[in-house]
Amino acid sequence: MNAAILSIGTELTLGQTVDTNSAWLSQRLAELGIRVQWHVTVPDELEPIRQELERACAQVDVVLVTGGLGPTADDLTRDALAALMGVGLERREEYVEQIRAFFASRGRDMPEANIVQAMFPTGSEPITNTCGTAPGIRARWKDTLIFIMPGVPREMRVMYDRDVLPVLAPLAGEGVILASTLYCFGAGESDIAEKIRDLMARGRNPTVGTTAQQTVIGVRIHVQGRTRAEAQALLDRDREEIRRRLGTLVFGENNDQLAAAVAALLFDKQKTIATAESCTGGLLAGRLTDIPGSSRYFLQGVVTYANEAKTALLGVPADLIARHGAVSREVAEVMATACRQRANADFALSVTGIAGPGGGTAQKPVGLVYIGLADAEGCQVTEHRLGDCLTRDEIRDRTCKAALNRLRLRLLGE
Ligand code: ATP
Ligand code: MG
Repeated sequence: MNAAILSIGTELTLGQTVDTNSAWLSQRLAELGIRVQWHVTVPDELEPIRQELERACAQVDVVLVTGGLGPTADDLTRDALAALMGVGLERREEYVEQIRAFFASRGRDMPEANIVQAMFPTGSEPITNTCGTAPGIRARWKDTLIFIMPGVPREMRVMYDRDVLPVLAPLAGEGVILASTLYCFGAGESDIAEKIRDLMARGRNPTVGTTAQQTVIGVRIHVQGRTRAEAQALLDRDREEIRRRLGTLVFGENNDQLAAAVAALLFDKQKTIATAESCTGGLLAGRLTDIPGSSRYFLQGVVTYANEAKTALLGVPADLIARHGAVSREVAEVMATACRQRANADFALSVTGIAGPGGGTAQKPVGLVYIGLADAEGCQVTEHRLGDCLTRDEIRDRTCKAALNRLRLRLLGE
């Protein structure tokens, strides 16, 4: 079985609202093993909506439509369906009463305009809306099932679960699609793809693909099976193989954050951490404390932005700063070492760099960052040249990720 999803609304085509309904519905259909062939977004205009309905009905088994069921003149989805079917709209009194009751339960009279929401194309079936005013519409056209649901995400989800899913599930048969993503840090997308090239071959089941988002590389596994058990077995096999090949590049699965991976290791090994930050201004401490229960591993963080603060709070000698500059390997080393001692922590991370957009020189360009990691054995500083084409936000974000990843690898014993 295959499907198409139509999102209706000029606010969507103008980019004022992001279409989240299509993504949500696609995931629900995938769980049933129904393949979504396309998403299309159409403004609130009658003829374009009618055309897209016609095109979808000619090619897929199920069309899911959201939006354009409101009470105002620009809500035209029901008219477009009537135009497709070559019929008129019929008023259904029981739905007028439902809408009136919805308003009454909130102590209000139903505005006249809402009566249009109880008008349905002849031959279609209304779907009750249990948490809003606009009923949905169910119709069949040329062997294609059409479900029209409200645009409001919450109302759409309730209606899908209550009235659409029970119709689709028995029709969909046994097929199941499962997906999972492994998240990696520390290598580029093409390096990672190279290691799993054979698994990424087209036409394979599972299909494996990579996505890059702000230096985190996702390896997505997508599998089709006749049953859930079969799909799960195929998914697990690829997941294990990819984990084996990528080793410690993989830090998590399905929306895990790098900080959560670090937190899990700190919990597990019962180690503590402190931070000394300059250019990230506390962002690193923020990431480490985003995780619930972080008081078990995070002891303290200092933001030593000014040179004087580095001296006063961490004891970085003023002449060391004068000689090497605040953004230097030497200063990062003293920051981490002193931070660890003062906090009495197992580990300390220090960060000093040039986040830009100003302040760069030929020797010390924007994007130059030093990260120190101190432990009982001493302190190691790494130099990072992130490049001056990044924004300040990106440089600070990548600096935090690089620092977290150094700690992660250290905790893994690398
Ligand atoms: P109804 O909900 O009565 O069918 P409608 O969808 O046309 O009518 P709108 O006022 O256009 O109602 O949208 C209601 C709310 O739902 C708005 O906040 C809108 O941005 C949001 N919305 C509509 N479509 C989507 C979508 N595809 N994804 C996310 N939000 C949406
Ligand atoms: Mg709309």
